[in-house]
Amino acid sequence: MKSNIPVLIVGAGPVGLTMAAELHRYGIACRIIDKKPEATKTSNACVIQARTLELLASMGIVEEILKKSLKITSVHMSAGWHSLAKLHTKVMDSPYPFLASLPQNETEAILINHLEKLGIIVERNVTFESFEQDDEIVTAKVFTTHGAETITANWLIGADGYKSTVREQTKIDYVGEDPLQKFIMIDAPIKSEHPLNTLLGFTSNEYTLLIVPFQDSCRLIAEVSQNPKYQNIEQIDEKIFMEICSKFLQKPITIGKARWNSKFFIHEKLAKAYRLKRIFLLGDAAHVHSPAGGQGMNMGMQDAINLAWKLALVEKQKSSPDLLDSYEAERRPVAQAVIKFTHTLIKGATSRNKAINILRNFLIPIISRFPPIQKMMVNGIAQLRFNYRKSPIVLAAENQYLLFAGDRAPNVTTHQNEMLFDILTRDKHFILSYRGNNAYLKKLEQKYAGLFQIISVSELDIAIIQRYNMNGPTYCIIRPDNYIGYIGKDIEDIEIEKYFQRLFK
Ligand SMILES: Cc1cc2nc3c(=O)[nH]c(=O)nc-3n(C[C@H](O)[C@H](O)[C@H](O)COP(=O)(O)OP(=O)(O)OC[C@H]3O[C@@H](n4cnc5c(N)ncnc54)[C@H](O)[C@@H]3O)c2cc1C
Repeated sequence: MKSNIPVLIVGAGPVGLTMAAELHRYGIACRIIDKKPEATKTSNACVIQARTLELLASMGIVEEILKKSLKITSVHMSAGWHSLAKLHTKVMDSPYPFLASLPQNETEAILINHLEKLGIIVERNVTFESFEQDDEIVTAKVFTTHGAETITANWLIGADGYKSTVREQTKIDYVGEDPLQKFIMIDAPIKSEHPLNTLLGFTSNEYTLLIVPFQDSCRLIAEVSQNPKYQNIEQIDEKIFMEICSKFLQKPITIGKARWNSKFFIHEKLAKAYRLKRIFLLGDAAHVHSPAGGQGMNMGMQDAINLAWKLALVEKQKSSPDLLDSYEAERRPVAQAVIKFTHTLIKGATSRNKAINILRNFLIPIISRFPPIQKMMVNGIAQLRFNYRKSPIVLAAENQYLLFAGDRAPNVTTHQNEMLFDILTRDKHFILSYRGNNAYLKKLEQKYAGLFQIISVSELDIAIIQRYNMNGPTYCIIRPDNYIGYIGKDIEDIEIEKYFQRLFK
């Protein structure tokens, strides 16, 4: 088999599936292969964060996700019987102010179904083995049920998970130190008097326990590295978790038969580079860290959303391939920060050091009670605070605002009662223009035809004017991934053009 397609995606996990859907949105054809004979039936990730939900909304699948998810609206962490922090998600700056808990296999099933409707079928039993590339093309050697074959493509996406063969074949180093902590987990139905819209976390000298409710069951995860009884346990079942829960829960709980169980160690690794010429690493192939905070799958899906629009512009010859370097420049620092954050979270939660624990148990309840800190914490977990302020492709204005180039574009409701996010259809750049210079914008429209759309902000759009700090004539360029490319006054009519010159050919 020989075919020449724009993009070959290796791996049909949540990240590869998101990449295929995003490329389709921009009109770029792809093939997506996976070595497994069928989609996964068990779940790792259990939480979809608000930022990912915002992006899934523009794919048209958020309603289906929400129908099957449980909306978790608070997180309660305790040390033994001592309450550490109660976080409420209603303060999140998003139209989706909650954690959507849904087993990963169900999230994948929704994405697969979405792709099938678009005419994209995951090719199964196809294992990527190696590649060759030159300046124009990548040739991938794959192994199928009929034997060895080659697929040629303009670009290759390595979304093949933690043990990525694509990464191995690029010889890009995967660096970091794995903390030697042992976890056990089950998914099981439960009966409990605890509120089911709350994620519960507990820590003690022996265990750390996390209970994440789903619509019809629950994920229970325990860290048991220090526990002689469980650290080498072979048979993980509901009885073990009943015993662990009884150490922490004040109200009765009954755990039904475990639907599946697993044990795992945490990995903390980051690829030294995300790109080798025509090959890109995304998701767990590029970064892996503790599941604390429910970040990994979400980050990977957002990797795809970051790269897809850039790859589409290059493939359509509207931008130079140099634009693709901004994928690593923007996404790798985010992964670095998340690895650091989840490392601190897991170290704090599983600490057995008396002095640290006294300090933790004293400080966290005080700090977490302050509303601005609560807001910062929940927006952080929801991945709403990632920004690309240091990106080489965003343009900081002469006069700085409260919102910066590189920040996530916030949502507001327009005076016609529409969500701004619904207007920003994520298929091109948008310019919000408040009292802008129409002649200048017309000139830009002629030069960069079809690459952006202007939204005139009326005097009635008080919410936009306030949220985007439009005190006087202002332009805000919003990229297809809903990040701000530029925000400022552009008094001399040169800054928007400068932004576009960097981006487009
Ligand atoms: C216990 C646990 C709980 C977690 N909870 C959360 C959470 O709540 N929220 C969150 O965001 N993240 C969570 N994560 C992390 C999340 O599961 C991963 O980040 C996510 O699965 C990564 O997706 P991916 O598509 O990059 O890789 P994967 O899901 O690993 O998919 C890779 C795909 O590539 C295929 N493949 C591999 N090699 C080849 C090859 N050579 N050829 C063809 N196909 C290949 C595989 O078959 C697989 O289908 C959790 C992880 C664990 C372990």
